[in-house]
Amino acid sequence: MITNLHTSITYLKGVGPNRADLLKTELGIHTYSDLINFFPFRYIDRTQFVKINQLQQNTAEIQIVGKITSLKTVQQKRGSRLVATFMDETGTMELIWFRGAKWIKDTLKLNIPYVIFGKTNYFNGFYSMAHPEMELASAYKKNLRTAMQPVYPSTEKLSNKGISNRVISKIMQSLFQEVGTEFRETLSEDIIKNNQLISKSEALFNIHFPKTQELLAEAQKRLKFEELFFIQLQLIRRKMIRKAKIKGFNFEKVGTYFNSFYKQNLPFELTNAQKRVLKEIRKDIGSNAQMNRLLQGDVGSGKTIVALLVMLIALDNKYQATLMAPTEILATQHYNSIVELLKGMNVTVKLLTGSTKTKERKIIHSDLESGDLQILIGTHALIEDKVKFKNLGIAIIDEQHRFGVAQRSKLWKKNELPPHILVMTATPIPRTLAMSVYGDLDISVIDELPPGRKEVKTAHRYDANRLSVFKFLKDEIAKGRQVYIVYPLINESEAMDYKDLMDGYESISRDFPKPTYQISIVHGKMKAEDKEFEMQRFIKGETQIMVATTVIEVGVNIPNASVMVIESAERFGLSQLHQLRGRVGRGAEQSYCILMTSFKLSNEAKIRLDTMVSTSDGFKIAEVDLKLRGPGNLMGTQQSGVLNMKIADIVKDAHLLKLARTVAIDLLEEDSTLTKPANRFINIAYQEISKNSTIWANIS
Ligand code: ADP
Ligand code: MG
Repeated sequence: MITNLHTSITYLKGVGPNRADLLKTELGIHTYSDLINFFPFRYIDRTQFVKINQLQQNTAEIQIVGKITSLKTVQQKRGSRLVATFMDETGTMELIWFRGAKWIKDTLKLNIPYVIFGKTNYFNGFYSMAHPEMELASAYKKNLRTAMQPVYPSTEKLSNKGISNRVISKIMQSLFQEVGTEFRETLSEDIIKNNQLISKSEALFNIHFPKTQELLAEAQKRLKFEELFFIQLQLIRRKMIRKAKIKGFNFEKVGTYFNSFYKQNLPFELTNAQKRVLKEIRKDIGSNAQMNRLLQGDVGSGKTIVALLVMLIALDNKYQATLMAPTEILATQHYNSIVELLKGMNVTVKLLTGSTKTKERKIIHSDLESGDLQILIGTHALIEDKVKFKNLGIAIIDEQHRFGVAQRSKLWKKNELPPHILVMTATPIPRTLAMSVYGDLDISVIDELPPGRKEVKTAHRYDANRLSVFKFLKDEIAKGRQVYIVYPLINESEAMDYKDLMDGYESISRDFPKPTYQISIVHGKMKAEDKEFEMQRFIKGETQIMVATTVIEVGVNIPNASVMVIESAERFGLSQLHQLRGRVGRGAEQSYCILMTSFKLSNEAKIRLDTMVSTSDGFKIAEVDLKLRGPGNLMGTQQSGVLNMKIADIVKDAHLLKLARTVAIDLLEEDSTLTKPANRFINIAYQEISKNSTIWANIS
């Protein structure tokens, strides 16, 4: 049993105050324990030998056994270069030294087997290696070193100050010499055995000093599993505690509002997925705990109607309900469609946004407090302090990624008990990400589109083919359809993007002249009322073309618009492209999405475009997005632990993540407080991790 892993690394042999300072500031290593948990990010394999005739271009460092058969010094402008001919039984290559030629020449022995190690270069059909690490084969065999050499993460400052990888390896060695190789176990015997894991001690030793590839793989598996397991344990435990502790309103009955709407007003039959999700939600809100549920459903899958039905249940139980959308356009649209759906019913609904007039606003405030107002729809405006509900029962948040978690929790503080929360998102979250970022929320998925939708036909076209694209647009417009043309507007280069948009608008105005064609334009710099005006012209069919930036990205529903042209499509991310494409394909007509790009495309851009052309499944697209960009750029991850993981990777280790989650759920079902003796190691580690992790504090 080791005692003092909290000792400062200053006291470790080979470190001292100066190096300790650097290790702290550059790598965040303060204690022995930090150092032990500082893992190599790759390994150099010195167990494998390569023959010269098997050499390939652009490989990692490799090692070869052979002999030097001749040496020559080549004079060059600055100093001289030493070139050795190196042979094994399969071929010949060169070893080259640009520095220290004279000194090296004296130490090299001809016709005696050496083991050389380094990266090869390929030039004119010939391989060479510059400044190889080399050792006599006889010495190599005697040397008892680890075969796999660890490479640790480093920084420029560290290498400049002479703290090379070799130095860190040495420090690591003295650490293990000092503290030994026995470390406290953090998992239970059962978990170790059932999942074929190696012990913590073996894993820590082999992650730093692996003897073989196999042992290294075992060590990695164990440590990745452990990391993922404790994250899942925290998330699931948090969810259990919340469910047990945070009381919620019990919407026990489904009454007249819901039933009469369902019988008389519902304009279509719900899809099976919608019915299933509704059941899941009803189960939550009918228990005594607060609901905290994420509702995922691809664009057009029909989340709004689910939201409305849930709000009606709140009304049936004498509570108020609110629906928050990220933009004014969307809030207005929700408001209009909900008023339309509720026609003939005695329900009070109001809209509150930034542009609501003071007089109207005052009425809303007082009606909310008296309880006369039943459903409030709006933007951020509805989380202002002045907005006080009499008894808010449920808050529904649409298109969650536009809202920060902080804003979400603000909604809670409106009354004594927190309202139920339903967060709806149209950006499908890959399963692995959902597990690690939203693992403490309940998740429902609408994985089915309403019947009769035609898949949007998607094509990639180059700017050079613009004329034929315009011809196509004219044909569609002649059939009575409407067209979106979207330009990127990405903050950093806003001025330029804005110019692109305006240039585009002008050239489109030329190609689609009045009075045959009418064009709307909407972008972020416009006043809300102007935007609304332009939007309305398009909605009413007065304009056939809508030139816009990504303002229209989310949620807008105009069934007659059947063509989406995306300009500079290579600049959009996959989820954005998918969202944009979701604007069309909402009516009965065949819809199209045309991705316009220049010829010059990065590999990643090509993958994005190919993905869009080949699939319309939002979950598949989200998986590709996660693989391309890593979790760091995806929504929600900033607040979560996925970015701070030491060794696991939710993309590459997806199978381990799923395993860890299952194991964590099983464990907590059996021992929710982790107090059984068999789980004591887990409990100790869990306490320690929970104490140190602030990363989770932000979630829910
Ligand atoms: P989203 O999930 O993207 O918010 P919406 O709720 O806006 O989708 O629904 C998209 C369209 O599908 C709307 O016009 C809506 O009326 C319609 N819709 C929703 N559910 C069904 C259904 N079960 N059958 C037919 N149409 C439906
Ligand atoms: Mg929607």
